[in-house]
Amino acid sequence: MTTIANNLQQVLAAIARACAAAGRDPAGVRLLAVSKTFGADAVLQAVAAGQRDFGENYVQEGVDKIAAVRAALPGVVLQWHCIGPLQSNKTRPVAEHFDWVHTVDRLKIAERLSAQRPANLPSLQVCIQVNIDGGPTKSGVAPADALALARDVAKLPRLALRGLMAIPDHAPQFEAQLAVHTRARRLFDEIAALREPGLEAFDTLSLGMTADLEAAIRAGGTMVRVGTGIFGGRSYPAA
Ligand SMILES: *Cc1c(COP(=O)(O)O)cnc(C)c1O
Repeated sequence: MTTIANNLQQVLAAIARACAAAGRDPAGVRLLAVSKTFGADAVLQAVAAGQRDFGENYVQEGVDKIAAVRAALPGVVLQWHCIGPLQSNKTRPVAEHFDWVHTVDRLKIAERLSAQRPANLPSLQVCIQVNIDGGPTKSGVAPADALALARDVAKLPRLALRGLMAIPDHAPQFEAQLAVHTRARRLFDEIAALREPGLEAFDTLSLGMTADLEAAIRAGGTMVRVGTGIFGGRSYPAA
């Protein structure tokens, strides 16, 4: 077994343990393998081990990797998720090549993604990024503004609003991680409970990375984004 296949198995086992501890069905937690800074060869190894969802932070790197993986595996259906901060001049390649965007934090970005989504592709699946712990320099809409943005995004024709995403500051302790993740869960529940038109598919809470996936699952996260735990340490910080 390759290292990546072995790591994947261990991450899936950690997810299963966290689900058991939380009294949840592991089928309710989707693993997003964050392949940023790693090459297409690493993605191919993960695909061979059964992984189908991949996350990328940098638009051009992601677009190139998607093309390389598609050429190597024609006919294999993968889901590519954009999880990096998005500038409005970079929305077009994202709308044309990705399946999901987790980092919608203002209406202008959402409008551009909807307008640029090619007609022959399914709707772009999007989550609204929430600045759940209120860091002044962090991306994400303020929690108090999340519902208004969700309502506006829900009206856009070529987007499917799927839920919320958050990247809390690193906290070493499980209890501290759980407290902030639980705030994201409450906000998610408040919006989901409205059952308004456009929110029918609001079922995704993208929460947790390698270091805090247990707390994210305990809080009710439905998608965990794991890079280091699957692919190993990243050797360069892409700008
Ligand atoms: C890089 C990244 C991850 C993965 O982080 P790890 O600690 O390597 O698991 C998850 N989410 C986002 C938004 C990231 O940028």
